[in-house]
Amino acid sequence: MSNRTLRAETIAAHALRAIDAATGAVVPPIYLSTTYARDENYAPLLKENYVRSGSPNVWQAEDTITALEKGAASLLFVSGMSAISILLETVPMGGHVAAQQSMYYGTRNWLERLAEKGRITLTLFDAGDRSALANALRPNTDLVWIETPSNPMWDVIDIEAAAKAVHKVGAILAIDATGTAAVTTQPLTLGADIVFHSVTKYLNGHSDVLGGVLVTREVNARWAEIASIRNKTSSPLPPFECFLLMRGMRTLHIRYAQASANALAIARHFSNHPKVEKALYPGLGSHPSHDIAKRQMTNGYGGMMSLLLKANFAASQKFCTRLEVITPATSLGGVESLAEHRKTVEGQASPTPDNLVRFSIGIENVNDLVSDIEQALNGL
Ligand SMILES: *Cc1c(COP(=O)(O)O)cnc(C)c1O
Repeated sequence: MSNRTLRAETIAAHALRAIDAATGAVVPPIYLSTTYARDENYAPLLKENYVRSGSPNVWQAEDTITALEKGAASLLFVSGMSAISILLETVPMGGHVAAQQSMYYGTRNWLERLAEKGRITLTLFDAGDRSALANALRPNTDLVWIETPSNPMWDVIDIEAAAKAVHKVGAILAIDATGTAAVTTQPLTLGADIVFHSVTKYLNGHSDVLGGVLVTREVNARWAEIASIRNKTSSPLPPFECFLLMRGMRTLHIRYAQASANALAIARHFSNHPKVEKALYPGLGSHPSHDIAKRQMTNGYGGMMSLLLKANFAASQKFCTRLEVITPATSLGGVESLAEHRKTVEGQASPTPDNLVRFSIGIENVNDLVSDIEQALNGL
């Protein structure tokens, strides 16, 4: 059966049946060679012959992600920010970029830096306002960057509607789909041009690999430029990290399903708690974008949620350190639950509310997580 007909869980669990042809090893070996011999026609045996352009481990992991996203090709990078900055490098000088106001703060800071230097022009729009994206577009818009669901309020943007609006002005739509992990939404099938994941998060899932990936709907000149910049900046994900990523992706779907079930139960439990002002989770009927989420996140709402506490900045920060099962740490998408006071991390200029605690819910027993949050709230 071709990878086109296999279902996503099978593709991930078999890691594309990357059985080693030479030995029959079910788990592919790690190829540490930096260079590969040419054949009698002086052509590389595989795609390239030098590790800065890629390696067998990187191609295996890329092909798996391409199949999961139903794309045309993928490129893995040494980090999510490396992938994002290289994509932005392909925006023409002075080109216009539109992006959400509320999103992963590393990306927002990088966009603002490029705008301050005059490298791009930038419009930030409110992801919670459904007409804001169309109003942010210009005749010279080159790229629209959308994160869905978006940090840390978990607004879900309608990708199909966004793609129509973005293509009308001739721009490309890139989706930061880190939170949907190729499990619950496939943005390329909804009209997006490029999908991005920080593979540091759900795709690897074990908090032990830093990496990023771009997946394209179409192999074109821009894609070739991205591959060329990855080579020149020496940014492909190294073989050992690719091996770990392949190992992590084999359990992607069961990890994501468990995290989604846990997060939904926790969000429901704490949405009516006396010490909680509001639970933010796209799977809750009370979330402003629940109608879009219901349509677009077809296989779980993921493990990311936030609680707005009835507490000030200091008490909300203190709450995180009172947790005993959940670890106060940054990042997301691992098997272990994490909590973070985002305003402390993002700084006072950030639009994130003082009383917001972001949770990355893992795969633990949900009752242990609920009791832990209860005991930390009781200390407020
Ligand atoms: C972590 C993250 C990034 C950046 O990825 P790194 O792998 O940390 O460089 C970008 N977007 C989102 C939504 C993230 O969570």
